[in-house]
Amino acid sequence: MPFIQPKGMIIWNRLIEFWREIHTKADYVEIKTPQLMSQQLWETSGHWTHYRENMYSFEIEERHFAIKPMNCPGCMLYYKTLSHSYRELPLRIAELGHVHRHEASGALSGLFRVRSFHQDDAHLFMRPADIRQEILQVLGLVEKTYSTFGLPYRLELSTRPKESIGSDNDWEVATQGLKEALDDWGQPYRINEGDGAFYGPKIDIHIRDALGRSWQCGTIQLDMALPEKFELEYMDSDGQLKRPVMVHRAIFGSVERFFGILIEHFVGKFPLWISPLQVRVLTVADRHEEYAQKVCQEIRKAGLTCDVDHSGESVSKKVRSAQLMQINYMLTIGDKEAENKTVALRTRDNVVHGEVQLSHLIDLLTRENKDRSLVSYFAKEGQHEHNCCQ
Ligand code: ZN
Repeated sequence: MPFIQPKGMIIWNRLIEFWREIHTKADYVEIKTPQLMSQQLWETSGHWTHYRENMYSFEIEERHFAIKPMNCPGCMLYYKTLSHSYRELPLRIAELGHVHRHEASGALSGLFRVRSFHQDDAHLFMRPADIRQEILQVLGLVEKTYSTFGLPYRLELSTRPKESIGSDNDWEVATQGLKEALDDWGQPYRINEGDGAFYGPKIDIHIRDALGRSWQCGTIQLDMALPEKFELEYMDSDGQLKRPVMVHRAIFGSVERFFGILIEHFVGKFPLWISPLQVRVLTVADRHEEYAQKVCQEIRKAGLTCDVDHSGESVSKKVRSAQLMQINYMLTIGDKEAENKTVALRTRDNVVHGEVQLSHLIDLLTRENKDRSLVSYFAKEGQHEHNCCQ
């Protein structure tokens, strides 16, 4: 069960802010459901029969409870607290759920396979006719997310397995809905015949990290069983109560695993917007301390993270230490900079950009941060100047 330290929390929070921003724009609502729920609920969902070995369960006042290994049953209970009309469908309910699953100790691996993790889960409730459009919207979020990190991905459709529940017609409608959405999306995809879940067909999203390894992260699963087990309903336009079609979907998948992939994908050189320390100010001598603090405060006021190296080491040692920490921007301050109210800029790639006006620096960094750029805007600017000279 991972500990996340302060610098890790900065990255974590930026990932979640990004996630929340794109989901709010896509008209999702967010809920939070309890960690601990009764055995009875897990019996209804089927987890007690099929998944009990992976669940942490115990007794309180002679009743059995289990820590949630999945968020679905909690969301089903939330759906049932209200009556629903076809007018409010599709309903998109997200939960950044903290789940616990017992894995054999030999199966555990770094942040990639853990016993406690967060899923960027969501359950979508819709009419059968909405399937194609809803899946297309989820694929749009997949593209937005993975392209923001520069992660290439591929899509796989898994169809009805031998052992399955639900009618032939339900499977036909569900599989066709996913297929049509994938065809409309236009990106090539692989079909894994018979590899779907017993309760419905699914699309899995595999990403390739910088080391060329493939990871299954996102998943989009149609579920025909759970709405039945929890007797979910909505009032259709013809006045009849009907079962909604439900989709489980996650894009990061496990946030912990996605975090692990990002560390390796960027080899610790995080783009500015998720970098745990964006700017460091390095003083040449103690007499530059006051101006250094002022520069640091201005940068923090602009919403960026910044500190001052007080180590008393030589400038070259300070630079070396900042480079080892993969800090994006290093600002050296000596007599000239303090006099001119400027900074001497060095980027993480060890390019010295020389004296820069503080306001210009803040302007460029703020934009790079806000745009969630994968490249340094100073690298771009340098490139531009270089081209001009040719
Ligand atoms: Zn689910």
